[in-house]
Amino acid sequence: MSIALTQDRILLRDQARELAQGQISARAAEVDRTEEYPWDHVEAMKNSGFLGMTIPQAYGGKGKDWLDAVLVIEEMAKACSIAGRIAVETNMGAVSAIMAYGSEEQKKLAADMVLSGDKPAICITEPDAGSDASGMTTRADKRGNQYVLNGKKHWITGGGVSRLHLIFAKVFDEQGNFEGVGGFLAIRDETEGLEIVKREPTMGLRGIPEAEVAFNDMELPPSSLIVPPRGLKKGFADLMTAYNSQRVGAGTVALGIMEGAYELALDWTEKREQFGRPINEFQGVQWRLADMSIRIAAAQALIYKAAESGKGGFPDKIMAAQAKIYTSENAIQVVNEALQLFGARGYSRNLPLERMARDVRMFTIGGGTAEVLRNVVASGLLGKKLPQTRDGYLPKSQAAE
Ligand SMILES: Cc1cc2nc3c(=O)[nH]c(=O)nc-3n(C[C@H](O)[C@H](O)[C@H](O)COP(=O)(O)OP(=O)(O)OC[C@H]3O[C@@H](n4cnc5c(N)ncnc54)[C@H](O)[C@@H]3O)c2cc1C
Repeated sequence: MSIALTQDRILLRDQARELAQGQISARAAEVDRTEEYPWDHVEAMKNSGFLGMTIPQAYGGKGKDWLDAVLVIEEMAKACSIAGRIAVETNMGAVSAIMAYGSEEQKKLAADMVLSGDKPAICITEPDAGSDASGMTTRADKRGNQYVLNGKKHWITGGGVSRLHLIFAKVFDEQGNFEGVGGFLAIRDETEGLEIVKREPTMGLRGIPEAEVAFNDMELPPSSLIVPPRGLKKGFADLMTAYNSQRVGAGTVALGIMEGAYELALDWTEKREQFGRPINEFQGVQWRLADMSIRIAAAQALIYKAAESGKGGFPDKIMAAQAKIYTSENAIQVVNEALQLFGARGYSRNLPLERMARDVRMFTIGGGTAEVLRNVVASGLLGKKLPQTRDGYLPKSQAAE
């Protein structure tokens, strides 16, 4: 481990491990099979103080560091990817953006909702604006005392279970002038015009819905708009800085999954005998286990380092990207290796490995693909912007102006 953990952190990790290896682990397969959001996991994590632990104490949270949240997420994800993701999204991403840039009223609202069990949804991606998120066409037009939002987002984690939504939209003034990108807060079932259109049938991570969300003439007061300190012009960049925490969190879920798979393989290769000896006595198996452990140690070091880089602010953009790329790609490898070491049993739905293999596949995609994050790393290394947009191209929303 690259960072020596304090006694408090070891205690926190052990507390998380106990919960994860108990009731969370016991229901992980069922959550996958039924595709139902695990409200019991939410309740258990809430009672253990794992929801909103990064929220400042002034708002009822624990004011914990990213690394504290990482330790909890890692343990949850070893047992159940969905519990890991809930721990991410109640400590990082949307909630962290609101706590950093929101008004007093917005911070209180978000803190209260998260601490009572809501996992906020963050709405950035659109059908025609994925990696090129700045090409979004969801717009918020100022009309009198209201903003009127129209547009569509898809692959929104928690769509249909989350109540609080942080919606990225292009903001236009009364005269139709583009002002920049802002984040709007809206509460499902309390805001007319916010519609959950459909749930995606996903390969893995089935216990949490991914949904298409539409905004049809959705009216919001100006007090629902988050304007980061540098104003709307830099709104998108600032909101995405907050998203670096989510990237570290997503990488941590992948880390937890690979550790869970590795532990199963370590145990099985000792128990399983072929040719009259445990299979871990074959050098081919030993080297496989050694390689898996190296990948895990390196991934954990990158994740912990990225988390620590954000002390008092947000994780460093490049470190967060490096950690997510490495962890997500190597987690796929490690789970695959573990599955192989189980032989036919690994391919059975009776074991968690096939679920882990489906779940882990997501992490090179969601929250910024491994390719696009490599662009982020390269841009940082070279110290220059690397524009990806074709010359003369204007996103639809602006082209229509
Ligand atoms: C399970 C899941 C949960 C998600 N949750 C959320 C959520 O809660 N909120 C939200 O807003 N979004 C969410 N997303 C969406 C996710 O962030 C996007 O899928 C991601 O940003 C990629 O966008 P895309 O799917 O449109 O792929 P595209 O942008 O269409 O990319 C397709 C391929 O092209 C490659 N590519 C694109 N541009 C470049 C480039 N410049 N250089 C090199 N390669 C490139 C990509 O890497 C990818 O391989 C989620 C996605 C998944 C799978």
